[in-house]
Amino acid sequence: MTTTLLLIIIAAAVVVLGGGIALLVGRGRAELPPPSVLDEITEETIEHPEHPEPHLEDDPEEADVPVAAPATDTIERPEAPAGRLARLRERLARSQGGLGKGLLAVLGRGTLDEAAWEELEDTLLTADVGVAPTQELVANLRTRLRAEGVVDPAQARTALREELLALIGPSLDRTLSTVGDEGKPGVVLVVGVNGTGKTTTVGRLARVLVAQDRSVVLGAADTFRAAAADQLQTWGERVGVPTVRGPEGGDPASVGFDAVQRGIADGFDVVLVDTAGRLHTKSGLMDELGKVKRVIEKQARVTEVLLVIDATTGQNGLTQARVFSEVVDVTGIVLTKLDGTAKGGIVIAVQRELGVPVKFVGLGEGVDDLAPFDAEEFVDALLA
Ligand code: GDP
Repeated sequence: MTTTLLLIIIAAAVVVLGGGIALLVGRGRAELPPPSVLDEITEETIEHPEHPEPHLEDDPEEADVPVAAPATDTIERPEAPAGRLARLRERLARSQGGLGKGLLAVLGRGTLDEAAWEELEDTLLTADVGVAPTQELVANLRTRLRAEGVVDPAQARTALREELLALIGPSLDRTLSTVGDEGKPGVVLVVGVNGTGKTTTVGRLARVLVAQDRSVVLGAADTFRAAAADQLQTWGERVGVPTVRGPEGGDPASVGFDAVQRGIADGFDVVLVDTAGRLHTKSGLMDELGKVKRVIEKQARVTEVLLVIDATTGQNGLTQARVFSEVVDVTGIVLTKLDGTAKGGIVIAVQRELGVPVKFVGLGEGVDDLAPFDAEEFVDALLA
């Protein structure tokens, strides 16, 4: 009796479970499209019509140069560079307030005794202006304001403005040199220690050039930092600029070569090359950067070598500047993170150190927060 009851319960359970499974399977089938439609969907997904595959077989010589095709659906129009420093002036004034305010406070007292001049000197030194330029500025100001030690604050301000301007060099040529020889593209090599904002700067420079209607190709020759090439490619894609890259850990010089080759073959205006910035040993750096430049110049002249320096690193930044300038002919400086320091005097110090002009300054983390440097705007923001 008990056995019969047990058998009936088991049989009932089997029927209920089987029915449930059948129902589930049936539902699953009902939601899938017929096989013919399924094939179409699969085809569509694989083809990616909005990102056509490059037809490498059409051009076998270029088949092994990986060029990331820019996504064309979300291309941005970058901000024109001309008005950027004016837009970022507030940010500059805020972060540099210490220097300008400090100087004006001393000069505004009206009486300039020895202690006041020392205070002025300290303020300049604290803002990383550097010893020699500080002494020069103080000596010049003293000569100009000698009249009995008593000065009119407005007159003192004008004199300070002119002396600061003279130190920064209002007539230095700060244009980016991007015109190549004989119809070839200009080649800009961007160097600097990792972490200074080098890759970000290359991406931002691409935007500057695109805003000026120049066609650009990027070379991701920083093959040592795993994310650098991806980072660069993303910057490029946003403004429709292709990136030539190589295998991770590959030869940076060969990526530079490929990028310039692409630039020449496809008639680009400018090739921007990011480089690795490891400072293990000076000779290692020298070998690497020297080789990148040499190999590139087999095809086209390097028109500009930009050194990226993090403005927040003070003396350390100056040491880096010295090492790089011994390794490669630096023709321009990009000072990044000027929004993050009250030591704007580094603009003066680093120009003095290298004898080349600051051409761009980074003033924030926004994509267009890289501004062409202008001496007058800078000094006016300092003394605002
Ligand atoms: P790399 O290693 O030299 O290539 O450095 P990255 O380009 O990866 O930049 C390092 C960090 O610095 C990133 O978080 C950037 O957003 C940041 N950065 C770059 N330029 C500026 C700048 O002008 N201001 C600020 N606040 N951050 C910056």
